[in-house]
Amino acid sequence: MRLFKYTRASTLSSAIKELNHNTQSRILAGGTNLIDLMKEDVERPEELIDITHLPHNQVKPLAQGGVLLDAFGKNSETANHPLIRSQYPLLSQAILAGASAQIRNMATNGGNLLQRTRCPYFYDVAMPCNKRTPGSGCGAMEGFNRMHAVFGWSDKCIAVHPSDMAVALAALDAKVVVQNTSGRQRQLTFEEFFRLPGDTPEKDNNLQHGDLITGIELPANNFADHSYYTKVRDRSSYAFALVSVASGLQLSGNQITDVRIAMGGVAHKPWRALTAEKMLKGKSATEANFKAAAEAEMAAAKPHEYNKFKIELGERAIALALTKALNYGS
Ligand code: SF4
Repeated sequence: MRLFKYTRASTLSSAIKELNHNTQSRILAGGTNLIDLMKEDVERPEELIDITHLPHNQVKPLAQGGVLLDAFGKNSETANHPLIRSQYPLLSQAILAGASAQIRNMATNGGNLLQRTRCPYFYDVAMPCNKRTPGSGCGAMEGFNRMHAVFGWSDKCIAVHPSDMAVALAALDAKVVVQNTSGRQRQLTFEEFFRLPGDTPEKDNNLQHGDLITGIELPANNFADHSYYTKVRDRSSYAFALVSVASGLQLSGNQITDVRIAMGGVAHKPWRALTAEKMLKGKSATEANFKAAAEAEMAAAKPHEYNKFKIELGERAIALALTKALNYGS
């Protein structure tokens, strides 16, 4: 273990100030990913700024509708909150599909979005990895790339984002609330927050050093009656998704008036299945239409040597999630 400075922040603004002061510092919130990365010598922060003891508000209803999740609320508290369970069951399901109960009790909402890829080459400091060491190459490109991306990858990186929670949040059109030293808060859509690897895979998102996620805003929606998160993985718990799908349907009779589909395990960020959404809007909610939309979405996938199976798996997972969403609660 390398030596690092430990700073216990007394307020949120002092944490942001300290973060801005040292470009090699990191915030310690749940620590469920960061500490692992430090143990593996992948992350080498000079300073950890501890905010674990600062008070937080959990889930706050908003006057204009929707809710604000505190970035420092624990994943388990969010998943089990009555407002989330009743109005955003998709988010509850996704969080509870992730990690273990012990990790969910520690991990924070903001940290969940910031967790880093579980690409094994990223974790193995003896292997080339452009995300860990820019310019060193990508071990996964010609390696064992079974878990890797089929959408949006570049010749520099084919990693996937590991979060389940973020997939549901993408489907629910969440916004990330960010604060920096100016004290000003700004909101980023998921499109603005996450990024594809391009030529700079070392950057997972579009935050600047000194930015701190303080909240996640969820707009009001009508998907609570028909939504479903499905996750396909190698074992039934405590495993990352091969493919996951968050789906929500808004229906008038059997006609789809609105639909949301986001995928996990397929790209560097939660992947909105916009082709499938467009095909389904205005159509009847039938298994045949779900299957056709799923096939159209996955037709654009570009797999690698060992993850060609993700195309059919993706088709089946989208169709299954939509069917389950249609029949949710019945
Ligand atoms: Fe590194 Fe990305 Fe290649 Fe994995 S896929 S080895 S994270 S550059």
